[in-house]
Parts: sequence; structure tokens; C-alpha cells
Amino acid sequence: MKVEDIEKYLEENYTKLAEGCKRCIRGEKLVLFITGLCESSCYYCPLSEKRRKKDVIYANERLITSVDEAIEEAKLCSSTGVGITGGNPLLKVDRTLKYLKALKNEFDDFHSHLYTTENLKEDDVKKLKDYLDELRIHPTKYFNKKVDEKYLDNLVKKIEIAKKYVDSVGVEIPSIPGMEKEILKLAKKIDGVADFLNMNELEFSDTNYNELIKRGFYPKDDVSNAIKGSEETAFYVINNFDGDMFIHFCPSVLKDAIQMKNRLIRRAENIAKNYEIITDEGLLLRGEMIFDNIDDLEEIKEILEEYEIDYEIDNNKIYLNPFILEDIIEEMKKQRFPIKFSAYITERYPTSDGLEVERIPLITKKLRFRRRR
Ligand code: SF4
Repeated sequence: MKVEDIEKYLEENYTKLAEGCKRCIRGEKLVLFITGLCESSCYYCPLSEKRRKKDVIYANERLITSVDEAIEEAKLCSSTGVGITGGNPLLKVDRTLKYLKALKNEFDDFHSHLYTTENLKEDDVKKLKDYLDELRIHPTKYFNKKVDEKYLDNLVKKIEIAKKYVDSVGVEIPSIPGMEKEILKLAKKIDGVADFLNMNELEFSDTNYNELIKRGFYPKDDVSNAIKGSEETAFYVINNFDGDMFIHFCPSVLKDAIQMKNRLIRRAENIAKNYEIITDEGLLLRGEMIFDNIDDLEEIKEILEEYEIDYEIDNNKIYLNPFILEDIIEEMKKQRFPIKFSAYITERYPTSDGLEVERIPLITKKLRFRRRR
């Protein structure tokens, strides 16, 4: 599915989406990974090694240990909602409640949704009821071929239990090629009970790669992590379902090209320094000068101040607007200015780790510009 197709699909179906999905697409969702602990072992589980089965908390990409950090991250991203995920968040229900309550109390009209498995307990959902707007159940055993009617009856019971306490309850599954009949059976069974069925495009990750290959799945092209056939399975189900429940397909391109981009732009707008440029993808561009000699740095600093140019110093580096840096270098070349430094334009994520994605050298070797005699 191309970005243009997704945009058309969203235009046609936006009003039917679950509220959590709407905020997610707009980049307004704080992804709160409350624990990596999980009682299940789905073969397609995409969690990375640093999260899988580890009791760690992340707010978006940031490893955190406190509620205050979660609130800070939500503010930095101008989030209007939270998606609590894991692992299985209900294995740490008191922690989930603590974070949920703090976020709900801190922000107005802050939407919350939570992912859990079919093993949910009524007492746990009841604990969260005053702070939870939407619940998504992942039936982890559904893709085991031995699953029978009893399992589906139990899933329906769990949805009914959750509905007693939470306004919107849906089911979320990966769209697995070859499972069309089983997914249609599931959809039929939960129609009229669940508010929605979400199908995510199945994707490779570093940790599920071997398991997926073993089962005969492979990527749909060279540039995507999506599995070949997953999209077709989802649309087969959507086109052949004759019930009333809304079925939504979430392709990987929607996550990468739209949701993630929107979230990065929101964070970049809040954290960009005056001298940084925000790209269309939500990344940050800045110029960087690196000096061997601190006296040289001081000399440049004086010039920048004289021309009232925004800059920042970090040890032997000066950060400044990348276009101004290019102009400065041109000017210094013309004047044969006697300063020794290297210079780059860098592109980085506006995330807490500030991961650098590109470094373009403006001066490949450290040059000494000499004044004309
Ligand atoms: S329920 Fe989710 S977190 Fe747990 S193993 Fe399955 S995919 Fe992974």
C-alpha cells in the first residue's frame, strides 16, 4: 500500500476508527511501554531484546523510571493521549494504574487505551475503569491451529467483562497470510460484542525473523519490513466480512510514514533550538564546527556574537544553523581566515537519544585558512 492509498483509505474511513487510532495517526499518542513481561510467547512477537520479557518502562523511545518522566515526555510531544502497551500491562496492573491516573490528572481530554491479552481478569479491568477509555484484546492463542469454539466463547466472555467497565473494547491481531478463514470466523464471533477489530500488517523484526522465516514468510520487498501477503489477507477479510463491526487494517507504512512522522514533528517543534531546522520528516538539521584549539573556538564565538547569530557551545564544538555555517565557511575561504576546524551538517531524531542519521562533511579535512599576506 502506497502512502497515497493510505491517505485515501483514511479519508474514507477516519470517522469509523477507534479514538486511540485517530490520535495515534495524528502523532498525538504517547506510547507507554509499561513492562516487557508477558505470559505469552507469540512467534511473531516483535519486541526487541532490550524489552522482551524485561521489566522495563519506556515513554516513546525513552527508558524511564518515574511518572514525572512520562508526563515530561507527553508534554514534549504535545500528546493528547496514551497507548499503554507491553508485554502485558495487566501483569503490572498497579503500576499501570499509577501512570494512567497521573497522566489523566495532568492533562485535559487525555484519551487512554491499553493492550492486553485474552487472559485479562475482571478485577484488573475494574481497577482501571475510571481512567481507561479503550481496551484492545490480543487473542494470543488464536493463531494456534488447535483453537476451538470454546476458546472463542471465552474470548467473547472476556470482551463482555471488559465492556462492563470500559466504553470501547476491541480486538487487535496481526494479519497473518493463510489465516483468512480463521480471522473471518473470529470477526463473525465477536461481531456485536466488540466495538472494532484491528488488523496490523505482519512485520519482521530482529527478534522474530527466524520464527517467521521458519514458517515460510518473507518480506514483500527490499525496503519494507512488512510480510508478503499480510495486506492481501487483511483486505480479503475486510471485503468478505458481512457483519456490522468496523474492521481496520493498519499497514506498516501508516506507522512509519504517517504516525511516526507526525509524532516526530510534534516533538521537534517543542525541542528544536533556534538554530535548528525541522525537516518534512520531523528530523533536526544543525551545523557543527569542531575545533582542535579552544582559542580558535573563542574567535568564532566572538564573530557569531557580533553578527547576533544563534549558537551553542558543547566542549570543543559549536552548533549553529546549517545554512549560516555554509555561508560562514564560504566567507572564511574567501578571506583565508586563519582558523583550523572541521565542519558538518548533521541530521538527527528529535527523540530523547537524539540518534544521528546523517553527517555530511562540509570540510572533509581539517583545513587551515591563512590570511592573505
Ligand atoms: S502478547 Fe504481545 S508482547 Fe506478549 S508475546 Fe504476544 S506479541 Fe509479544
